[in-house]
Amino acid sequence: MKTITHWIGGKPVEGTSGRFGPVYNPATGSQEKQIAFATRDEVDAAVATAKAAFESWGQSSLAKRTAILFKFRELLDAHRDEIAELITAEHGKVHSDALGEVARGMEIVELACGISEKLKGELSTQVSTRVDVASIRQPLGVVAGITPFNFPAMVPMWMFPIAIATGNTFVLKPSEKDPSASYRLAELLAEAGLPDGVFNIVQGDKVAVDRLLEHPDVAAVSFVGSTPIAKYIQLKAVEHDKRVQALGGAKNHMLVLPDADLDFAADQAINAAYGSAGERCMAVSVVVAVGDTGDELVARIAERAKNLRIGPGNDPASEMGPLITREHRDKVASYVTSAAEQGAEVVVDGTGYSVEGHENGFFIGVSLLDKVPVTADAYKDEIFGPVLCVVRAETYDDAIKLVNGSRWGNGTAIFTRDGGAARRFQLEVQAGMVGVNVPIPVPVGYHSFGGWKDSLFGDLHIYGNDGVAFYTQGKVITTRWPDPADGGINLGFPSNS
Ligand code: NAD
Repeated sequence: MKTITHWIGGKPVEGTSGRFGPVYNPATGSQEKQIAFATRDEVDAAVATAKAAFESWGQSSLAKRTAILFKFRELLDAHRDEIAELITAEHGKVHSDALGEVARGMEIVELACGISEKLKGELSTQVSTRVDVASIRQPLGVVAGITPFNFPAMVPMWMFPIAIATGNTFVLKPSEKDPSASYRLAELLAEAGLPDGVFNIVQGDKVAVDRLLEHPDVAAVSFVGSTPIAKYIQLKAVEHDKRVQALGGAKNHMLVLPDADLDFAADQAINAAYGSAGERCMAVSVVVAVGDTGDELVARIAERAKNLRIGPGNDPASEMGPLITREHRDKVASYVTSAAEQGAEVVVDGTGYSVEGHENGFFIGVSLLDKVPVTADAYKDEIFGPVLCVVRAETYDDAIKLVNGSRWGNGTAIFTRDGGAARRFQLEVQAGMVGVNVPIPVPVGYHSFGGWKDSLFGDLHIYGNDGVAFYTQGKVITTRWPDPADGGINLGFPSNS
């Protein structure tokens, strides 16, 4: 069985802990690889390598850094199919979806190729007589990224392109469930000419994560994953004096107002709820049907849901693949059962679904729950599977109260033809990313991604300008080149003249 190793100093490094985790093919349900879990010493070795590499990388020219990133971008482009295949083999999502993930990650690489523009700094001349002031931003040193299973290529690319473009060196701890895509990215970075030690991977679990959080030479930690772990990461990172951004889970609401185009809204609800089997932090998991739209909207969503083609991600006919593990599949199914017991109407029941020839795969069908009480577990928890809850609201005011009552605030969307209502929603809704007739408003690479409330711990969002700010620290330089006429003793506080 293939063992996935660490990647330290520009080459594969075998694990020494004797601890391994299984990597499954979710479409077949069989374990196809194993992954080495790092010890604290192995994490220390990766951080030491990154620290040594920072000595020269942090001083390297923008021209050199961006030339490597341009080359990496070309290699990514040439290898997109291969990376997408690795994602499908371990995550399960369909090939077209995996290709979309690679493309969205590439956006951040492209932003990083233009990092010189972002690092130009500011200069004020003659702020006082013969005195100039410059503001510059410099790298932090060694930074770490800890990433989830659901976007094994894109989420690491939300982080490391900007981190290394701004002069830092990087240690990634990817999800142990689907590590091969980010490992391939490490190989492509090396092929692009990235010096050894600038980008490293330690595989593992809590042992590796905890050591990264405690390590005195790690300056900053970016995390993306579930809310309880995000909160833990933030607290522990702060305890160890690190800069941190920790993005958590979500429960994204999509409002449909009575004047919306219901066919369009139904199409978009299907795409956003069931794409990637609902394993997206920006998935729509709650549709709020406002006014009298509910019955008709539910009927149109149900009609579409019943026709979705579910199967292995590498079959071009499949529109939705399996879930990540058997345990997760069973947990998702339990929410459909409990919702029925807790008062919801099960309009489409996807539990107990199996795919011919793939009976051991981690498949589940899509479920549609109507009139879900807000007290039901299916409404309260992040299910992270293909289960769409519909909640009815009499008025816009009731709907916005519902959305703003959620503990999460990642993404949200409104479907309407009424510009005034949409504008009100943009300003009133408590969420970090808002779509108007756009169900999954993931910002493009040059805007930043991040939620509010329990969807993000820390101050700065990820990638875009916030990403540049996160991976750099400001320095202000005040300069005087004195004229021979200047001088003399004056003990007063310096003032500008
Ligand atoms: P997870 O929180 O279980 O794992 C994320 C990372 O943390 C992994 O690398 C994992 O190994 C590590 N980890 C897990 N348990 C840990 C522990 N006890 N101590 C230290 N480290 C630990 O998340 P997941 O299941 O891989 O991913 C799904 C979650 O990620 C969902 O909640 C989803 O909403 C969220 N997510 C959020 C965003 C966002 O941008 N807000 C994006 C993608 C995914």
